[in-house]
Amino acid sequence: MWKKINGKDMFKKVLIANRGEVAVRIIRACREIGIPTVAVYSQADANSLHVSLATEAYCIGPNESSKSYLNIPAIISAALVSGADAIHPGYGFMSERADFAEICEEHNIKFIGPSPESMKLMGDKATARKTMSSKNVPITPGTGIITDIEEAKKEAEKFGYPVIVKATAGGGGKGMRVANNPEELEQNITLCRQEAEKFFGNPDVYMEKYLVNPRHIEVQIIADRFGNVVHLGERDCSIQRRHQKLVEEAPSPAVSDDVRKKLGEAAVRAAKAANYEGVGTIEFLLDKDKNFYFMEMNTRLQVEHGISEMISNIDIVREQINIAAGNPLSFKQEDIKLYGHAIECRINAEDPERNFLPAPGEINGYIPPGGFGVRVDSHVYSGYKIPPYYDSLISKVMCWAPTREEARRRMYRALKEYVITGVKTTLPFYQDLIEDEVFISGNFDTGFMNTYKQNK
Ligand code: ADP
Repeated sequence: MWKKINGKDMFKKVLIANRGEVAVRIIRACREIGIPTVAVYSQADANSLHVSLATEAYCIGPNESSKSYLNIPAIISAALVSGADAIHPGYGFMSERADFAEICEEHNIKFIGPSPESMKLMGDKATARKTMSSKNVPITPGTGIITDIEEAKKEAEKFGYPVIVKATAGGGGKGMRVANNPEELEQNITLCRQEAEKFFGNPDVYMEKYLVNPRHIEVQIIADRFGNVVHLGERDCSIQRRHQKLVEEAPSPAVSDDVRKKLGEAAVRAAKAANYEGVGTIEFLLDKDKNFYFMEMNTRLQVEHGISEMISNIDIVREQINIAAGNPLSFKQEDIKLYGHAIECRINAEDPERNFLPAPGEINGYIPPGGFGVRVDSHVYSGYKIPPYYDSLISKVMCWAPTREEARRRMYRALKEYVITGVKTTLPFYQDLIEDEVFISGNFDTGFMNTYKQNK
């Protein structure tokens, strides 16, 4: 099954069970290591960049993700037919499906990610909270799975409104509702259960205290199977719309060296508690007094991993593959030197003037920005048709510079240079946002978009 590259155990061939920019990102890492790649694609994606960049490619089904990128028998068949000995799930789709990881194992295919057991432990938010609190990682006051509504109301009185009801299997900002009083709580428990069942096939919900306008701070960790765990510092993802991230930056303007050290240690403890192997992200909320609370762990590569790469000079995907192949981490915590500041904007095919309505269609002109400290991760090109079936991400623009202000100015320059014609995009929205005085100050929280909208 295995071969050696530069003295390290390595996969013979990696199948990428994903599409879009992340599939391209993973293919690039594999090519640099020297591993042949297998792309899988839906009929709608036949002309996609990941298909032409991979060594070989297989169509795994029609346009709908449920019949293609979520079609386990088709993905496993493509791996077996092509002789791939590993599958990289990217983010989204199969990346947090413990059942898929188990099926890969049964077929002797390495799932590039943590074990199914760690995925189950951390994928269930209520279980993860319990595990974290037993390891002295602070969590927000809250409950386990809610079984009795009257009991839940009593609990809520104890830690005080507002509270947030969350689907224990939730993700992507779905299955979460804030309640300000007992009536809303009762209503939201019912609604969240329905949503949770519909989106995640698991109706269980729990609740926790809703912090008013905290910052969203997350720590990137990498762990090997020998118990070595390192962190690459934090990312600040407080600028969100409907609990979904819009801008990310690293490091956080709100985190001092002292808090950074504590966050890093807590994140490493969290990963060790889950017996974690691979790359992962521990998400925290940070309150005004700089107390932080564990929120959840994402057991996969994160969309915004690139900004951590920029400040650490570490290729996270390459290291992820290295670890999955059974090698020890290539570096120790003390080897990791964070330097400078990086900002990311997610450019989507959406119309910011029509409430971010998805705007699929053909890109007829495309000139991405470049220059020192600018990175654009994308799968699009001039003439590319954005299909309506998947998320609307066109690209991630990342800018690095020695200081936050220089990185911000570089981002503004890059966004102004960027030309995408034929479809509506969120570029104009970001060009304004980057020049907003609150953004410039660095002094904002997850409530940013509420007041930002009112200013316009
Ligand atoms: P998902 O898994 O869907 O991404 P998260 O649990 O990570 O959901 O929460 C997403 C966002 O929702 C957070 O970044 C934060 O803005 C908000 N949020 C979640 N829990 C709380 C809380 N207890 N208090 C305040 N805001 C919260």
